[in-house]
Amino acid sequence: MLFISTRGQTRPHTFSEAVEIGLATDGGLFLPENLPSIADKLPAWEKLSYAQLAAEFLTLFAPEIPNDEWHTLTAEAYARFDSPDVAPLVKLSDKTYVLELWHGPTLAFKDFALQLLGLLYKRQVKLKGKKLAVLGATSGDTGSAAIHGCMGQDGIEIFILYPNGRVAPLQERQMACTGSANVYAIPVPGTFDDAQRVVKECFGDHAFVSEVNLSAVNSINIARVLAQCVYYIWAWLRLPEGARANVEFVVPTGNFGNVMAGWLCQQMGMPCGGFRVATNQNDILHRFFTTGSYQEGEVKPSHAPSMDIQAASNFERYLYYRLNGDQNKVRETMVRMKAGEQLTLPHVASSFRSTRMDDETIPKAISQVWIDYQYVADPHTACAFTDMAQDRVSVVLSTASPAKFPEVVQAETGSEPIHPSLEILKSKALQTYPMEATAVAVKAFLRSKV
Ligand SMILES: *Cc1c(COP(=O)(O)O)cnc(C)c1O
Repeated sequence: MLFISTRGQTRPHTFSEAVEIGLATDGGLFLPENLPSIADKLPAWEKLSYAQLAAEFLTLFAPEIPNDEWHTLTAEAYARFDSPDVAPLVKLSDKTYVLELWHGPTLAFKDFALQLLGLLYKRQVKLKGKKLAVLGATSGDTGSAAIHGCMGQDGIEIFILYPNGRVAPLQERQMACTGSANVYAIPVPGTFDDAQRVVKECFGDHAFVSEVNLSAVNSINIARVLAQCVYYIWAWLRLPEGARANVEFVVPTGNFGNVMAGWLCQQMGMPCGGFRVATNQNDILHRFFTTGSYQEGEVKPSHAPSMDIQAASNFERYLYYRLNGDQNKVRETMVRMKAGEQLTLPHVASSFRSTRMDDETIPKAISQVWIDYQYVADPHTACAFTDMAQDRVSVVLSTASPAKFPEVVQAETGSEPIHPSLEILKSKALQTYPMEATAVAVKAFLRSKV
């Protein structure tokens, strides 16, 4: 199995190569050359544990990693989750289920991919005998999940930039209180975009990239999308048989990575009814799916900060399929969009519908879910609870633990959501490495540490 770039100007890569470089050299995103069919495998997968299912699924895409090694990797990655099911499917009513994706170390769904990615990095360091410096910018969840995937791993140093004072206090603690010597949490002045710009500048310096063996941790790595496919199949296999073929997955969405994974499962032959893209007030994708036009706006901070984005970085993967795999067209379209042109695609019947929840409604939705089901939803998950399908079963993907957002959740449900791992963090000392937001400063710091 090889991976091609959406923009078609890079040679095909193996899974391990695509994971290592993250973004294709032509600026495109990696996708499998062909999607394997999983339809005939589903019955046999029903009796597997979560980690076993992940190993069987990932072997289809990366046979260069032997199947028994995949089993070892996924067993280790998902052993750190605090539920034996890893991703428990909770029934709220005959029509409504919640797939809890926050039982990993940082209590958000990004752990599913980043626990595994940390182990893949470790494997690569061992194979190549070369140390790795991992660099990324975060507005919160990706950075802490990446840190928890890499902390304590031999041969890896991880550096995460974030906008000083603009990530949630508990998120900062998850990054800065690990006590791990290979973790560098770096607050910089400005916004997430400033942090992101510095990271991009560092990767633009090719001599520096090879000098410190720099690897990017961001939302577009193909390993992340594939690792996320697994919980859709897992949930589907746990539904009553009669509900499976028509189920709607409801996905709180920002960068389109999570829901893209589900849609790929459907393309591979997992029959389901479709997907609802649930956005907050940063609704570029809702506007796209209702009008066909994709146009960036201003980011408006919300109660669901991990969905506060206006350019959905995984959207290019969907565009590739919408343009029938025409890589020249994808490339031209992306260039035109970068120049500020608005993208409009003709309406087609698709598996997607979308909804939007404004910021005044999110607390009300948390309250309503509590009243209706005695279930505590975090503000991201709450965005899913609107316009629920009447004629089929819905599986809501719950992307974060309510304990990460104690104020708004307590205000709406009357009790403070508590998670022991966050309680421990509250008493630990913060270790941060504040720096000016320049590539010069960051590169000098990395050189001094690797
Ligand atoms: C990252 C994140 C999202 C958005 O996921 P995408 O893959 O970017 O669509 C939603 N909720 C939470 C809690 C997140 O951390």
